[in-house]
Amino acid sequence: MAGLLEGRNALVMGARNKWSIAWEIAERFAGQGARVALTYQGEREENVVRELADKINATMTPCDVTDSDQMESAFRRIGQEFGTLDILVHAIAHAKREELAGSYSDTSRDGFAMAQNISVYSLVEAARLAAPLMTNGGSIQTLTYLGAERVVQNYNVMGVAKAALEASVRYLANDLGPKNIRVNALSAGPVKTLAARGISDFDVVLQAVAAKAPLRRNVNQSDVADVALFLASDLSRAVTGETLHVDNGYNIMGL
Ligand code: NAD
Repeated sequence: MAGLLEGRNALVMGARNKWSIAWEIAERFAGQGARVALTYQGEREENVVRELADKINATMTPCDVTDSDQMESAFRRIGQEFGTLDILVHAIAHAKREELAGSYSDTSRDGFAMAQNISVYSLVEAARLAAPLMTNGGSIQTLTYLGAERVVQNYNVMGVAKAALEASVRYLANDLGPKNIRVNALSAGPVKTLAARGISDFDVVLQAVAAKAPLRRNVNQSDVADVALFLASDLSRAVTGETLHVDNGYNIMGL
């Protein structure tokens, strides 16, 4: 049977190491027949990301999302290499470590702006640059977390950024729908990655979720990559503007 993404071109932004959610997503897409391009933040990540690129025969381009020139040149290069783009995965977020602990009311002005710039505006700019390449329609997806909807201890400024990210998904879905480009967010349960390690007491969150989620376990990168595959494929052709929880049901629980 042909892969679900046979003949599709996919850009995956945000693979940094083998624990990255984007890493597993890129592997899953390639395994289902997609031609994959990777962007990575900078020189520090290059050698590690090359391992993934070699494994799945992907191209790789540096792209610090705070720099519009780098964003434009990354998408230009992808346009030259691929001609058209079908799938974009945005798996990028960052906040100052000191803002991921204590009180949200202590958030600094520049810490707030940085979290929004890297974690939210980058999706807006990426969608704008991807859309002209998605001449056959397309699927754009980003990664979010329950801290957008509920108060999660220490998630603070990133919870507010994720709320803006989820709202951006709805606005982008409305903008790009007439071009048959779908835009969705995948709300993953907590997974131990480098980004997650920056959040104070993250292990406590993992334990609480495993104890309370209806399926009584935590998700892993593979659980998330399977749903990312669904969102990237035609199986989700009528789904857009959605925030889809992949969290073993944790989000439905009250007291
Ligand atoms: P990760 O640390 O592996 O990935 C974060 C990525 O963001 C890295 O590749 C990093 O290089 C990139 N990044 C940060 N600043 C950047 C910049 N200026 N320019 C370009 N890239 C930059 O961690 P992850 O957990 O795989 O995170 C991927 C996404 O999943 C994030 O949006 C995160 O918020 C989201 N998410 C994670 C969890 C979790 O528990 N790990 C849960 C839900 C959602």
